[in-house]
Amino acid sequence: MALVAKAAPQPVMPRMAPREDLNPFRIAQIQFDMAAEYLKLDPGLRQVLRQPKRILEVSIPTKMDSGQLKVFTGYRVQHNVARGPAKGGIRYHPNVTLDEVKALAAWMTWKTATVNIPYGGGKGGIICDPKRMSHNELERMTRRYTSEILPIIGPDQDIPAPDMYTNAQTMAWIMDTYSMTKGYSSLGVVTGKPVSLGGSLGRNEATARGCLFVAEEACKVKKMSLRGATVAIQGFGNAGAIAARLFAEKKARIIAVSDSRGGVFNSRGIDPMKAVRYKERSGTVVGMPGASRISNDDLVTLKCDILIPAALENVITLHNADQIKAKIIAEAANGPTTPHADEVLARKGIFMLPDILANAGGVTVSYFEWAQNLQGYFWQEHEVSDRLSMVIRRAFSDVYETMRKYHTRMRAAAYILSVGRVADATLVRGLFP
Ligand code: GLU
Repeated sequence: MALVAKAAPQPVMPRMAPREDLNPFRIAQIQFDMAAEYLKLDPGLRQVLRQPKRILEVSIPTKMDSGQLKVFTGYRVQHNVARGPAKGGIRYHPNVTLDEVKALAAWMTWKTATVNIPYGGGKGGIICDPKRMSHNELERMTRRYTSEILPIIGPDQDIPAPDMYTNAQTMAWIMDTYSMTKGYSSLGVVTGKPVSLGGSLGRNEATARGCLFVAEEACKVKKMSLRGATVAIQGFGNAGAIAARLFAEKKARIIAVSDSRGGVFNSRGIDPMKAVRYKERSGTVVGMPGASRISNDDLVTLKCDILIPAALENVITLHNADQIKAKIIAEAANGPTTPHADEVLARKGIFMLPDILANAGGVTVSYFEWAQNLQGYFWQEHEVSDRLSMVIRRAFSDVYETMRKYHTRMRAAAYILSVGRVADATLVRGLFP
């Protein structure tokens, strides 16, 4: 036994995280409030635009392959319909919450107004783990969910589309369930359908293509070349994986990509097609040959020219904003950056392409799909791409001009522009009754 007591080891204090509210709906409201302040909106009008117009919660009894019955919870939120029908995707994810769906619906309202297409904003979600469900289970759950939200969707009312872990097949099931119930085939009830079922050419690539267009515009104003620019992409789903391909086609160098299991890095560049094929085989990009392993956290703070968050919300927060080294951030995801992190990034002089502009390519081609469905007349792929380019580049220049006019930043400018448009429509319509 020691006679002299050793100094007790100092307790290691866990590094305290700066406190930050990560609730997506409260974040969406903070972003809205800032624009309302700039626009000096009337307090009554603010109350109208801050809240969703309609929320539907449904329970979805589903027969699993085992024979067991499982009841899922789903939502459809319509945030605003002042400028046209509600529009927005449906997300399948274990972490879906009502507040998340409310935030995503609000962001759709501001997104459709930023690119000036005649829609409001909506979103849906089901709390489920689609990776652990079979094709048949997903089909039964989707059809029952559709029948539960059927009274509030429709081509003139609310038009769903794909979001995380839903795709063209999901949209085909929704279209079929809706059509069978109505007794006629309704193409315009959902977008992002398979091309064989009235989907639009170019819809699948649209989010990534829009992201590329705004990045090209940002490079022009920053006097940077996209050719040879280094790009890191967090998230390798529809938006991230296709963005990797499109940016590489423009001779940008994709130095890192990641998915929910982790990421890979190679300073000399990763071939996006090899990454896609590897992920198809093994379910993740992690372990692909010719690249070293990197975590999602480290990817976000890599030294690169363009960072593309293309997965979930709250990826850039007070935790890491200070360490971000990208020159441009193009938000292919919805809500990847918190308001506090935004402040830090702005102080560092990072050029932000906010989600409601940078990922609006998806809903823009959804609009084209819906227009083609209602017309019963289909466009060629180059027409879709040319018109997408026109809409997105015009939106970029509208936002950029607003930024200069108000001496503010790109996100604030996109909100000023879009909230202003929705406020105008609401005021000119007047209050019913
Ligand atoms: N889910 C996509 C988004 O967040 C697309 C929505 C749509 O096409 O309606 O923008």
